[in-house]
Amino acid sequence: MIPQDIINQIIEKVNIAEVIAEYIPVLPDGTGFKSVCPFHNDTNPSMKISPSKKIFKCFSCGAGGNVIQFVSRYENISFIDACVKLAQKIGISIENNTDPNYESKKKLYQILSESNEFYKFYLHNSDEGKLALKYLLDRGIDEEIIEAFDIGLAPSEKDYLYQALNAKEFGVIDQIESGMIRKEKNDSYIDTFRSRIMFPIKDLNNRVVGFSGRVYLPGDKSPKYINSNENLIFHKSELLYNYSNANEHARRENYVFVFEGFMDVIAAYKAGIKASVATMGTAFTKQHLKALNALTNKVILCFDGDQAGINATSKAAAVFSSENKIPYAVQIPEGLDPDEYLKKYGADKLNKFLLENQVNVYEYIYNIAKADLILDDVVSVQRFKEKVFNFLKNTNNTIKEFYLNKLSVDLGLDPTMIVSDFGLSLTEKPKVIENVPVKSLTVSNKKKIPTKIYRALDILVIHSISSKEKFKLFFCDHNYKLSIADFSEYLDIFTRIAEIYSTKEKIDINELKNGLLEESPAISLLEKILNNKMNDVNNELEFKQCVETIDNYSLKEYARAKLLGALEDDDLVNDYFAILKSWITIQ
Ligand SMILES: [Zn+2]
Repeated sequence: MIPQDIINQIIEKVNIAEVIAEYIPVLPDGTGFKSVCPFHNDTNPSMKISPSKKIFKCFSCGAGGNVIQFVSRYENISFIDACVKLAQKIGISIENNTDPNYESKKKLYQILSESNEFYKFYLHNSDEGKLALKYLLDRGIDEEIIEAFDIGLAPSEKDYLYQALNAKEFGVIDQIESGMIRKEKNDSYIDTFRSRIMFPIKDLNNRVVGFSGRVYLPGDKSPKYINSNENLIFHKSELLYNYSNANEHARRENYVFVFEGFMDVIAAYKAGIKASVATMGTAFTKQHLKALNALTNKVILCFDGDQAGINATSKAAAVFSSENKIPYAVQIPEGLDPDEYLKKYGADKLNKFLLENQVNVYEYIYNIAKADLILDDVVSVQRFKEKVFNFLKNTNNTIKEFYLNKLSVDLGLDPTMIVSDFGLSLTEKPKVIENVPVKSLTVSNKKKIPTKIYRALDILVIHSISSKEKFKLFFCDHNYKLSIADFSEYLDIFTRIAEIYSTKEKIDINELKNGLLEESPAISLLEKILNNKMNDVNNELEFKQCVETIDNYSLKEYARAKLLGALEDDDLVNDYFAILKSWITIQ
């Protein structure tokens, strides 16, 4: 714990107005100062700062307190960390030793910091270093970047770092725990990183906690990168590479880029974008968001342009959405990452691209989903709708309405249909009740879908698996409008069947099962259908009747959705009657 006496000294001696002015603009106001409050969405200077009373107070949102509370809240750090930071300003050195692992961690921080100094020295003061510097320079990493990112070199000799750490009297157990040194079988000790360019990885408080080492010698066949292992101080999921360096730039520019890898951060730096960080190859977490929130409200995600990068962006968007925030996203073209883009097109192009191609993350996800859309292919339309519905689930009503509208325009479908489908997709999926002798699947659903519909779909699944011709006849030649929410398991199965038939003439049951998600409702449904002895693939009459049943049902449901929307829209009423007529003729 920090003694109360020190806390009092900090509050007493630190000028609260000066400290706040380091973070946000402050204006004179009577005997004190005022400022736009950073803790709520403020446009007027609602926050008063009183250097004489040593407090701040927002008269709009109620935020207030002393200077330690301000720093802790603004930087999203603990009260104790804020004390440690502020104590430095008045020349008091205090250490946060409330952590039970404090002593062990302290040793590790020292070893990592010492190793970093050693590597930097070695890069600039050895023959190997000359080679490495040339290698770096050839790749556009000049002295300025080497210094900004604290880049160093691990010697090829097996234990130079070990010797250096011994000279500083670090215990061998701590050295091993730090991950920098390893014990060999013959009880000797070797450096973990050898003949590698060393990129230190720092935590949010600018302490070195680990390294990424890259090979640089021609013909070196070992893995391109080696990273430190997780330990007491190295937790990848909590780190943002370059956070401390990006801090002041992000506050000034009022944006921060988030990349996937540290080489992307260096590429962005070369392109003149210094407000950038990278997740260390892990998923974006709430902790990351918290740290970025302390810098700026505008976060721009720029993950790799491949499928993994797109998925990572969607997942990150969900983290933001849980805090009611919307990030921006940039998609680098041609599936490249920023570093590759820089190599191909140069720094100016990368700068321009990153700054001019930001869209909100929903637009990004929508556009990517749409890129695969084939309008006259029902499977493709289905997939597109599912993807859009999926990301909309976690968003607010404005965003939902905006993108449902957009979806209806892009698909050329009636908005009420889309809204109705989406509404249904939010309700619980129908549950297959276990252990019912499968004459037809019993389903609980508030729309009360007749059991004969499920029965018909069961039979159509069996026929579809048995013959490509029949599947085409049933699934492709009819313009079904089955709602995703009511029939998602069936649509999963049919979509998979369509995929297999697009390249093959016959369905292999195992391939079909493997294509469905493990333990998904679609899998259990498929198994029940396959196990039902009453299903007969040779009963052609039954097949035709089932096709008709589904035809009629889907048209009827479509008409129903139209009718629901038609109450508010004259055009739709006309539409509705047209549909209704065709429905009556069929019946
Ligand atoms: Zn406020």
